[in-house]
Amino acid sequence: MSQSTPYTRFQKNLEDVLSILGASDEVRKIFSEPQNIHKNELTINMDDGSSKSFPAFRVQFNNARGPYKGGIRFHEEADENEVKALAALMAIKTAVVNIPFGGAKGGVQCNPKKLSKNEVQSIARAYVNAFKDNIGPDIDCPAPDVNTNPDIMAWMRDEYEKQTKTFSPHVITGKPLSFGGSLGRGTATAKGGFFILKELADREAHDASELKVVVQGFGNAGAHIAHLLHSDGYTVVAVSDSQGGIYNPDGIDPVRVQKYKQKTGSVTGEYCEGSVCDIDRMSMDGVKTVTNEELLEIDCDILVPAALDNVITEENADRIKARYILELANGPTTPEADVILEKNGVMVIPDVLANAGGVTVSYFEWVQGRSGEQWTADRVDLELQRLILEGYKSVRRTVRRENISYRKAAFVVGISRMIESMKVRGWV
Ligand code: GLU
Repeated sequence: MSQSTPYTRFQKNLEDVLSILGASDEVRKIFSEPQNIHKNELTINMDDGSSKSFPAFRVQFNNARGPYKGGIRFHEEADENEVKALAALMAIKTAVVNIPFGGAKGGVQCNPKKLSKNEVQSIARAYVNAFKDNIGPDIDCPAPDVNTNPDIMAWMRDEYEKQTKTFSPHVITGKPLSFGGSLGRGTATAKGGFFILKELADREAHDASELKVVVQGFGNAGAHIAHLLHSDGYTVVAVSDSQGGIYNPDGIDPVRVQKYKQKTGSVTGEYCEGSVCDIDRMSMDGVKTVTNEELLEIDCDILVPAALDNVITEENADRIKARYILELANGPTTPEADVILEKNGVMVIPDVLANAGGVTVSYFEWVQGRSGEQWTADRVDLELQRLILEGYKSVRRTVRRENISYRKAAFVVGISRMIESMKVRGWV
C-alpha cells in the first residue's frame, strides 16, 4: 500500500463525494489539483548575524466563489503536500458556511518556538514580500493558522501596504483589534464549534452537566473551546498541548490551566508567551499526566482534536470512546479511521464545518476593513451563530437525505456550491 499523505487523504474523501454527485470529467479535473502553487525560499538575518532560509508556500486551490482565503502556518512539517490539502479543505469550508471566498493556504517550514520575536517578524515580512503579487484584498486574503497570531498578521498587513503603497486593511484577517482586527475573531473558531455542539446537545436532549469533554491542543481553538464548554457546565476532563496532557475524571478548570501557561509559558522564549509550553509540569490535585496518544482514548462523550492533522488513524480509531468528535483541527481523522468510527457509531463533525467559525469571522473582518465599519461583539456573535448553524443544518439535511456521514455530507454541500459557481463562470 502506498504511503498516505495529507493530499491523498483529501483525495480519498473527495473521490467518494464526486461519485455521489455524479461529477463530470471536467469537474473532476478541476478538483484534482490546486489552481496555483506558489513556492519560495525566505532568507532572513538571524539574531546571531547569520542568515537562514526557510521554504515557504502559498497554495490557491479554487476561487470560483470569491477571492482565495486561508491561513498561514509556521511549522516544521509544513510542506507542499500538506499545504495543498489544507488549501482544498479551505475551499470546501468557505462554501459550507456560504461566505463569498475560495480556498487557499500558506505555510513556512520553521519552528517558531526556536526563533526570537525579531526573527519571526522577519519571516512574516519576507513571506509577504515573496508572495505580494499573489495576494491582495480581492485576490487572496491570508489569516492566522497553526503557530501564527494577530501580531504576525499585523506585520504582514504593514508589509503589504508598504510594498504596494496602498491602504489595504482587508488584505489579511485575524489582525489585532488595534490594527484593523474584528471583535470576536480570536474566539471565533472555538465559538463556531461551540454553537454546533450546543445545537446538537439540545436536539439529542443532553444536559451539558452530563457530558464529559477531552480537548487535544491548547492553542487558540483548543483553549477557547475548553473555556466555553467549562463555563457552560460541561465537564472538561482532559486537555493537552504539544508537550503532553493532563487528565482528571472529575474535571479540570481551563482558566487555571491558562493562567499557569501565561505564567510559565514564556520560559522557552518570547514567542511562547501565553501558550502552554510546559503544561505537564503543572501540579493540581487529582490530576495525572497523559501523553497526547493516551488522551484521545480517554473515556468521555465529546472528543475535540484541536491540534494537528492525522491523529485519529486506523491504529487508534477502535479505541476511541467518545460518542462525538468535533474537529477543530484541520484533517485530524484519516479516511480509514472514519470507516471504523462510523461502524462504531461515533459521530464526527468534520473540520470543514466544525472549525469554520474562524474563517466566518475573518469574512466579517474583511467586510469591516472594506467598508470602514466596526461591528459590535454582539453583532459578530449573532451573525457567526446564524452562518455556522445554517451550514450545520444544510449538512444535517444532506446526512438524512443521502444517508451518509457528516464529513461526506459537508463535502457534498461545499462541492455542490462550488460547482454552481464554476458553471456560471463557464469552467465546466
Ligand atoms: N486558519 C483558519 C482555518 O483553517 C482560518 C482561516 C481564515 O480565517 O482565513 O480555517
